[in-house]
Amino acid sequence: MATTALERRLFVDGEWIETGDRLEVRSPYSGDLVGRVAKGGPQETKRAIDAAERAMREPLPAHKRAEILVKVAGQLGRRHDEVARLISEEAGKPMKAARVEAKRAMSTFTFAAVEARKLAGEMVPMDASQAGEGKLAFTLRVPRGIVGAITPFNFPCNLVAHKLAPALAAGCAVVLKPASATPLSALLLAELMEAAGLPSGWLNVVAGSSAEIGDVLVEDERVAALTFTGSGDVGWKLKERAPRKHVALELGNATPVIVCADAPPDTAATLAANSFSFAGQSCISVQRIYVLDDAWDEFVRDFVPKVEALVVGDPADEETDVGPVIDDDARRRILEWIGESGGEVLTGGETNDRDLIKPTVIANPAHDAKVSREEVFGPVVTLTRTSSLDEAIELANSTRYGLQAGIFTRDLRSALEAAQRLEFGGVTVNEAPTFRADQMPYGGVKASGNTREGPAYAVRELTEERLVVIQL
Ligand code: NAP
Repeated sequence: MATTALERRLFVDGEWIETGDRLEVRSPYSGDLVGRVAKGGPQETKRAIDAAERAMREPLPAHKRAEILVKVAGQLGRRHDEVARLISEEAGKPMKAARVEAKRAMSTFTFAAVEARKLAGEMVPMDASQAGEGKLAFTLRVPRGIVGAITPFNFPCNLVAHKLAPALAAGCAVVLKPASATPLSALLLAELMEAAGLPSGWLNVVAGSSAEIGDVLVEDERVAALTFTGSGDVGWKLKERAPRKHVALELGNATPVIVCADAPPDTAATLAANSFSFAGQSCISVQRIYVLDDAWDEFVRDFVPKVEALVVGDPADEETDVGPVIDDDARRRILEWIGESGGEVLTGGETNDRDLIKPTVIANPAHDAKVSREEVFGPVVTLTRTSSLDEAIELANSTRYGLQAGIFTRDLRSALEAAQRLEFGGVTVNEAPTFRADQMPYGGVKASGNTREGPAYAVRELTEERLVVIQL
């Protein structure tokens, strides 16, 4: 735990500014003060947009943008311990998972640097029609404009990286509003970007009241694109309120997995490890496992002891697998949902002596229970016995979500059938759907979102094509 609380200012127009008001960041595990951050509002957000507008008047060449991104990746590598510890302290994320996140942020910046150097339009084959004869045409990819980025608490470093790095690669200036619970990693990234030579105004970080800052980002016409990662309720409302902006949404899921009788032998171990890391607070944490009849007995026998073997405790401890959820409200809600599931609690279902929810496995919950239909965002997994692959696919598709899903089988036909019929942005085969590498096109369908992140895809979203036609 932090011995001295950090004091941080906001980053606006290349300056670290005070506001006279403070946001406290407390450890979700101990309640200790981790840091205090200057709290911004409409005035700072407006100032940030002014700065971003000025910055974009003098575009940065691609090689400079790439160099900055590479330098930040290097610093993330050199300062790995500090970055991982900060993630762990502010989010209550176990060090094991925080280290993975810190390394992934490096990868996100590295891939964005590649995209900055590759950014180009394409030739249009003009003589393919009579009308185009005697003409040459091509497209340029131009930045959309100022990007308003809003990020959630659960990946305070890498999901911020997924906003900042592609935006810079695309040539867009950013006004970022990080989650109030976890603004410190975002401010550290701003520090690294400044030190890497990012000129004033290209990145502005304003922490504070979400409604106030969000309103300015929605209403100011100079903000051309909003990129939001967080809950559906907030995300879809933002999109409704900003019909003339490009609004990219990365939202929640109630991640399903199908386990067939011919699943590989390490399936239970893989799923036990991927259902509870960061206490299930990942948008693709495994939540609903549909086990086919013939696999049921063996899977339950293997899975439950592996869940019980997970180490629950202090996130600062390198051995801990499962730490706290983000706050008391989340803990109360999750315990309530477990209580009303209508299924049999095979393990967990209660808190330990430090008030941490024990990894919980519920067998055969009611189909209309919240744990079966909504995103739990906690250390809870349901096991549902199903009679056929058809039924399992139907149940997996039965919620409003569609981010990632998975199937474990060695039968190619079952795997391909699931890949075709599961209505999700991504389907993993013999890998937990919690898997994400940062270059992948990642995003959801249905209520889970409307975009794909991963630097190559995000850069496409943040630029638009401009056609140039030349009469020869
Ligand atoms: P959240 O409550 O929706 O908050 C996300 C961000 O939106 C925070 O910065 C929050 O600010 C801000 N916000 C809240 N109300 C706002 C408003 N009216 N206007 C503008 N901004 C507003 O989500 P969370 O609890 O932090 O994160 C968990 C959710 O994110 C889960 O649903 C999870 O599945 C989803 N998620 C999705 C992905 C993905 O890639 N698809 C990745 C990670 C998480 P404050 O913190 O100040 O309230």
